[in-house]
Amino acid sequence: MSATDTASIDDQAAALTSVNPATGEAIASYKIDDEDSVRAAVATARTAAATWGALTYAERKKHLLRWGSKLVAKSDELCALIHAENGKPVDDAFLELMLALEHIKWAASNAEKVLKPKKITPGALMANFSAHLEQRPLGVIGIIGPWNYPVYTPNGSIAYALAAGNAVVFKPSEYSTGIGNFVARCFAEANPELPDGVFVTVNGFGATGAALVRAGVDKVAFTGSAATGKKIMASAAETLTPVLLECGGKDAVIVAADADIKAAADAVAWGATANSGQTCAGVERVYVDKSIADEFIAEVKRILTDVKPGSDDKAHYGPMTMPSQIDIVRRHIEDALKNGGKAVLGGPESIKGAFIEPVVIVDADESSAAVCEETFGPTVTIRTVDGVDEAVRLANDSTFGLGSAVYSRKQGLEIARRLRAGATSVNSVLAFAAISGLPFGGSGDSGIGRIHGAPGLLEFTRPHSIAVQKFTIPGMALLSYTRTDRTMKLLRKIVPLIHGRAK
Ligand code: NAD
Repeated sequence: MSATDTASIDDQAAALTSVNPATGEAIASYKIDDEDSVRAAVATARTAAATWGALTYAERKKHLLRWGSKLVAKSDELCALIHAENGKPVDDAFLELMLALEHIKWAASNAEKVLKPKKITPGALMANFSAHLEQRPLGVIGIIGPWNYPVYTPNGSIAYALAAGNAVVFKPSEYSTGIGNFVARCFAEANPELPDGVFVTVNGFGATGAALVRAGVDKVAFTGSAATGKKIMASAAETLTPVLLECGGKDAVIVAADADIKAAADAVAWGATANSGQTCAGVERVYVDKSIADEFIAEVKRILTDVKPGSDDKAHYGPMTMPSQIDIVRRHIEDALKNGGKAVLGGPESIKGAFIEPVVIVDADESSAAVCEETFGPTVTIRTVDGVDEAVRLANDSTFGLGSAVYSRKQGLEIARRLRAGATSVNSVLAFAAISGLPFGGSGDSGIGRIHGAPGLLEFTRPHSIAVQKFTIPGMALLSYTRTDRTMKLLRKIVPLIHGRAK
């Protein structure tokens, strides 16, 4: 099913209508940006980038923090909109906003420290030079976002790109257009003295995103599925436009024999089903030591029996935001049950329209879709293993490599270091995503590059190396045709002294 199933195109008006996934009611309509209007937005951003990029880090920090304050002032309105357009509970919306604010503050406050010019030691042979490494903004960043964390996720690129001195053209997901525009409007309202175009949105479906990739931006930062990431990379390759790709995951949790069983079960239950399981680094697979498996599975089941989806104040999580995902979740459950899996909680009957109750499947075959592909629903597979070595081998046997977690009282860090993942939480799940200084991203089908932390700022700059000759050394003109035989004789003596003495 295409991405147009709830957000629909009105051909006459070329409009996108955003829809409440819990009720099917239309929320608002937005004009779809075509190739020309996307190029116009990039042109406006390019003009604004000259002003924004020329500000000091302290000035940009002031503007970014004002934006954060505006988001706080409007948090009730924003959280109500997130609840309506995305479906998640209002409290979860507030937590998402809180995390985004932490990142805005971190990026604004640390950009200077990370990106300021650094003096580099030139080395003995170039001792008459001073060397400088400076990070320049790239210019205009095209940011294409998903809908599952419609504020937090794109913000991982938006806040860091802005803090590094770039202008941003943001294409929110067609399922969170209202939210994306709200966030950008808050930036403009908080900073009326800035020129238009420092942070603007373009709206539409995949075609608008594709137009943004081709619009002459200096980098594309994409968050979404691996399939779309591959298309974007292929298109960006035509102009050698660099890409940052934050794609999906199939995150594993290892529960070792010495784990705190109750704590591990609590974290797995939440990590697998919060946000209806629509979390790129959510818990999808668990490998639990056979000595504690029965107790652990019983505890996960006990917790999730009382966890309910809905749209009211008491709901633990909301509906599936994107209707087409429901069929994927159903296929994964059915495939797992056909391939040796036993549902200890729920099953295909747990799918009730857009709302899916928690499903726990034990010992499905490792080749089944529920274990290999991203499910993105409130389901989890649990496999009993013969110790840590088997758990690590199975956890690493995935085309994805995004997040992961380990529960162990004594060997948590040791096991974490053996995992092929971009991030690991020990005795917790998803904690790395809330620590602003830690970079986040994956490898393989999970993508390329990092958001957050110092690497997340460096992603949006280009290094500029400058070598300044301070004085000439008589007889040592190496970079000149005036070089003499005496110079070469001297070098033949010096080079072995510097490089030839290792035993
Ligand atoms: P998606 O790939 O369907 O869409 C993402 C965005 O890409 C949307 O804005 C869409 O309009 C746009 N798009 C679609 N086709 C395009 C094209 N050809 N060119 C340019 N843009 C195009 O993904 P989604 O369903 O919105 O998001 C869910 C996926 O995102 C999951 O796989 C999830 O794991 C992943 N995700 C990853 C992270 C992370 O940080 N690694 C965070 C959140 C979500």
